[in-house]
Amino acid sequence: MNLDNLYKVLKDEPKFRLSQAQVAIWQNLVSDWSQVTTFPAALKEKLNEVCPLQIEADVHVAKKENSTKALITLEDGAKIETVLLSHADGRQTVCVSSQVGCPLGCKFCATGTLGLTRDLNYNEILMQVLFFARILKKENSRVSNVVFMGMGEPFLNYDNVWKAVKYLNDKQALNIGARKISISTSGIVPGIEKLAKEKLQVNLAISLHASNDKLRSELMRINKRFPLAQVLKTVDDYIKQTGRKVMFEYLMLRGVNDSLQHAEELSRLMAKHLYMVNLIPYNPTGVFKPSDRRTIDSFRRYLEQAGVEVSQRFTYGQDIDAACGQLANKASK
Ligand code: SAH
Ligand code: SF4
Repeated sequence: MNLDNLYKVLKDEPKFRLSQAQVAIWQNLVSDWSQVTTFPAALKEKLNEVCPLQIEADVHVAKKENSTKALITLEDGAKIETVLLSHADGRQTVCVSSQVGCPLGCKFCATGTLGLTRDLNYNEILMQVLFFARILKKENSRVSNVVFMGMGEPFLNYDNVWKAVKYLNDKQALNIGARKISISTSGIVPGIEKLAKEKLQVNLAISLHASNDKLRSELMRINKRFPLAQVLKTVDDYIKQTGRKVMFEYLMLRGVNDSLQHAEELSRLMAKHLYMVNLIPYNPTGVFKPSDRRTIDSFRRYLEQAGVEVSQRFTYGQDIDAACGQLANKASK
């Protein structure tokens, strides 16, 4: 899909063609312009050539069937992954990638081991959501939430991510509420500052994963460039400007960051108004092991008693490596 080409072609057509095209893409969710019966044949042909709507993907359904992963092949052959999480309460959350690979190389992350191939353009981000929107339409359902938690660092590709967010939110397009859209960052300070100033208020999540600079720098190289104090100061400013809650993601890595000393250190950073910690069971990708259930429970209790708001993220989808980057990693081997 290439919306810029679409607009170019339709500039020379009567105005109503554009609205028809928009309805076809976003409401009727067509995957081929030949399905748009109101368009003249020549136009359908032209659009199939410059703005094809087909999406090439391999689909893997998790055994428990509440999580579906698509490995999408882009025009240049690059592969990215997108996951649909179908929650018991009816929410249909699509987890999208923002880059092919990621340049930041966090130690625990499979995407990090890939390095960066390239940024995704906004069309490629939107296609990931469209892919699942089309599947869900056949089941009379729709995408309700989008999280930027797939491959890549969204704030290193800010403009494309934001352009995609606007389409996701647009009533003429996917019509997903801003509050149903979340962006997760490893702590890119200029990105958080920019987001604070946007009119559309989407949710912000910060990948924290450590309670001090020494450990965080070992796990996440980006911490050397943007250390904890600077990230948290920027988050505080974001909260002042937006009044919105911020979620801190904390992966539970056995014997690495999951002791009660870590919980104590973490609680001193996180016991704050509008801060929320999300404890994430680690999806093993090689180097680290996940913390066991009991350790996570006592870690959680410690934080709660220290006045920290805590939640625990979905654990399902692990049997298809739903967390981050693993499938593409296997495919590239
Ligand atoms: N680059 C952004 C967004 C993509 S990663 C970021 O780092 O926030 C989305 C989330 O998945 C991050 O919190 C990341 O730390 C987490 N993650 C990475 N590898 C994981 C794994 N193996 N198991 C569980 N979560 C993982
Ligand atoms: Fe990149 Fe996020 Fe993975 Fe770190 S955790 S390597 S920032 S995708």
